[in-house]
Amino acid sequence: MTRVAFIGLGAIGMPMAQHLAKPPFDLVVWNRSADKAAEFAELHGARAAATPADAARTAEVVITCLPSSREVREVLERPDGLLAAVVRGSILVDCTSGDPAESRGFAKTLAGQGVAFIDAPVSGGVVGAKAGTLTVMCGGGSEMLERARPVLETFGKKIVLCGPVGSGHAVKAVSNALLAVHVLSTAEALAALTRLGVSASVALDVINASAGRSNASQNLFPERVLTRAFPRTFRLALLDKDIGIATKLASEAGTPIPLIDLAAQLIHEAHVELGEEADHVEAAKVVEKRAGVTIQ
Ligand code: NDP
Repeated sequence: MTRVAFIGLGAIGMPMAQHLAKPPFDLVVWNRSADKAAEFAELHGARAAATPADAARTAEVVITCLPSSREVREVLERPDGLLAAVVRGSILVDCTSGDPAESRGFAKTLAGQGVAFIDAPVSGGVVGAKAGTLTVMCGGGSEMLERARPVLETFGKKIVLCGPVGSGHAVKAVSNALLAVHVLSTAEALAALTRLGVSASVALDVINASAGRSNASQNLFPERVLTRAFPRTFRLALLDKDIGIATKLASEAGTPIPLIDLAAQLIHEAHVELGEEADHVEAAKVVEKRAGVTIQ
């Protein structure tokens, strides 16, 4: 049995952890709100740890899945945190969509304690996490990835080594910058067409058989905007964080990205307007408000 500690049972962490609550894994979970961890343990036959240190004490693989690198740092460094107990020879796999520079710092600190690190953020949403079909983009040594692979394969279908530590986080941030552009541009396009008297469902039917299609037009808008369902699966606040990382990386690389910069500004404005709990697709509501139209 491989002893695994899973830290962070949020919207995506919870369904990812469920795949590890069976042999050949021996799972311990920790969550900031302890009731969620207790309920998970009861339901899936895992152990709920009292603190991050308690979770890490015997683990061979520690997985973190937290909002951002800031919370990963907190969970590492708090007095009862992971660094206080993580076992020499173990590996920490950070599935957070984090910041590459922070990850390089974590890798260095952990190496000082004889612990390996890879960044391994995921894509595919809550549906993909439940189905075990996530894309996992990794940063770190290939030997580290091979050690983590059996764990990653429980929730991931496509697992790609992108480069050294931080590369997984860089690819994830850029991929989500494209998601932000697609959500905003699809909303703007459909708002304009609605105003011109073209039904949004007719427009999507054509666009999805034409060159303008994207995951936003093929899935997000038909399932969430046209139905007005707007389920809360991936918080707009997290997309704001991701596109912010992407713009910072491009600026550090001296690469002008005016289109993505503008999307980052609009996503941030939508986040401020709609609050911490809004879903990322709800950014379309801000576009609708500006256009004075409901996409339908
Ligand atoms: P949620 O906001 O749903 O959950 C966040 C988790 O982090 C919760 O378990 C929360 O605990 C915990 N947490 C928050 N702050 C702290 C803290 N200061 N100390 C300790 N724990 C804390 O996020 P998601 O699960 O949606 O996302 C997790 C990561 O995965 C993010 O980086 C996100 O960008 C990424 N991601 C999410 C996807 C999605 O579809 N949701 C898709 C792909 C990537 P508590 O229960 O107490 O609030």
